[in-house]
Amino acid sequence: MLCLSWWCHVLPIGHDDGMARVIVVGGGAAGLVAAWRAASLGHAVTLLEANGRLGVKLRISGGGKCNITHDGPPKALLAAFAREQARFLRPALHAFDNDAVLDLLHREGVATYTRENGRVFPLDRPGSAMAVVAAFEARVRRVGVDVRTGVRVLGLLGRAPRLAGVRLEMGELEADQVILATGGASYPETGTRGEALGWLQALGVPARPWFPALAPIPLEAPRPAWEGVALRDGELRLSAGREGRRLAAFAGDLVFTKVGISGPAALELSQAVERARRSGEAWLAYASTRETPEVVDAALLAEARTNPRLRAASWLQRHLPERLVDPLLDAARVGMDLCLKDLTREGRRALVGFATALPLGAPRPVPLARGEVAAGGVDLAAVDSGTMLVRGWENLRVCGELLDLDGPVGGYNLQAAFSTGYAAGSLA
Ligand SMILES: Cc1cc2nc3c(=O)[nH]c(=O)nc-3n(C[C@H](O)[C@H](O)[C@H](O)COP(=O)(O)OP(=O)(O)OC[C@H]3O[C@@H](n4cnc5c(N)ncnc54)[C@H](O)[C@@H]3O)c2cc1C
Repeated sequence: MLCLSWWCHVLPIGHDDGMARVIVVGGGAAGLVAAWRAASLGHAVTLLEANGRLGVKLRISGGGKCNITHDGPPKALLAAFAREQARFLRPALHAFDNDAVLDLLHREGVATYTRENGRVFPLDRPGSAMAVVAAFEARVRRVGVDVRTGVRVLGLLGRAPRLAGVRLEMGELEADQVILATGGASYPETGTRGEALGWLQALGVPARPWFPALAPIPLEAPRPAWEGVALRDGELRLSAGREGRRLAAFAGDLVFTKVGISGPAALELSQAVERARRSGEAWLAYASTRETPEVVDAALLAEARTNPRLRAASWLQRHLPERLVDPLLDAARVGMDLCLKDLTREGRRALVGFATALPLGAPRPVPLARGEVAAGGVDLAAVDSGTMLVRGWENLRVCGELLDLDGPVGGYNLQAAFSTGYAAGSLA
């Protein structure tokens, strides 16, 4: 095994005082906390990060503002995750919860505030996510972690039940303990290419393939002219085909993009959309949650009686953004200047349909690379939820998005990374 000079310099040869040589792979949310925690317990920690700087994904999180965590008791935070994920996360979250994360940041001089919807951010100013990274980096350096940036790990050394270390381009590094915090597989330009899952699978560790989540949804028939237009106060509905049964729905705003849809409702439904698409037919519509077609139809008929010269276009503008109205009427072959009194039965049905459930059509493949998180990862059943030790291994731990954990938008994913990182770094 090669011995890199900086490593030999940093790590003592003998370590019979209980101090372990720990390698943490990945300097994101989970890796920073794991490295800080292990070093603060007296271990000799080396943090290896492929990028030239730490916390690259943290820096772009929340659009650069960084939604650090979510307000509320652990029970409420856990309720945002799927049941199996919540069960797994419970011990780690209780050991290092949202208050603990915020306490750490406050001590490092990062003031925070909580929005009405429970999302917690650093105080609003440009680049506030950078203050969060700086705070964790300061912690890590203060406890003596040897931070090595620009170092990409290429593989793992050893066989169950013990890893011997990691493989680098320039050689190999020995370790007593290895903590993998390499993140997911979305936004590969931030350093997360998801390759650690392949190393683990080769060692027999069970894992689920990466899968798109919290991503914008491209459509078969996009509306580039509607880019930037938002739909509000409704829900995005997913059905098995145009007339098929309802599969899922998410209430929230939606925004048209050049190639499809984005916004909270699209992101939250994207994983279900991709699953439906791969297993058969998927069809999307944005529907009103306040008005049923029957109520709107009755209101339209009443309006036609009391206000017969009202243009159909003006009526539809009460329900949809102006930019959508002309193209929709055109598609339904309803004249732009047609008055309500001259509306045919088909025209009325089309108007009521647009106003209550705007059809968006079939989705195209949801891109893994554009997700705020990647679903899939190391099977939770293969990991001890208290220590993050991979079952069957004495010195291999995994944490953060590399685990099969994916929460909704709202600070939940960073909190899961911080909590599982803390558990992984809590070496006896
Ligand atoms: C655009 C965007 C916005 C987001 N906004 C929010 C938000 O506001 N709130 C929220 O809760 N969540 C948000 N998320 C999700 C959140 O950022 C992630 O879930 C979280 O960062 C995962 O932390 P992690 O430490 O597991 O992985 P990461 O933070 O991705 O860190 C993993 C690190 O490992 C390094 N690495 C990978 N492979 C290797 C290797 N072979 N060798 C060495 N280093 C390696 C990577 O370079 C990377 O720096 C957002 C995500 C994106 C993409």
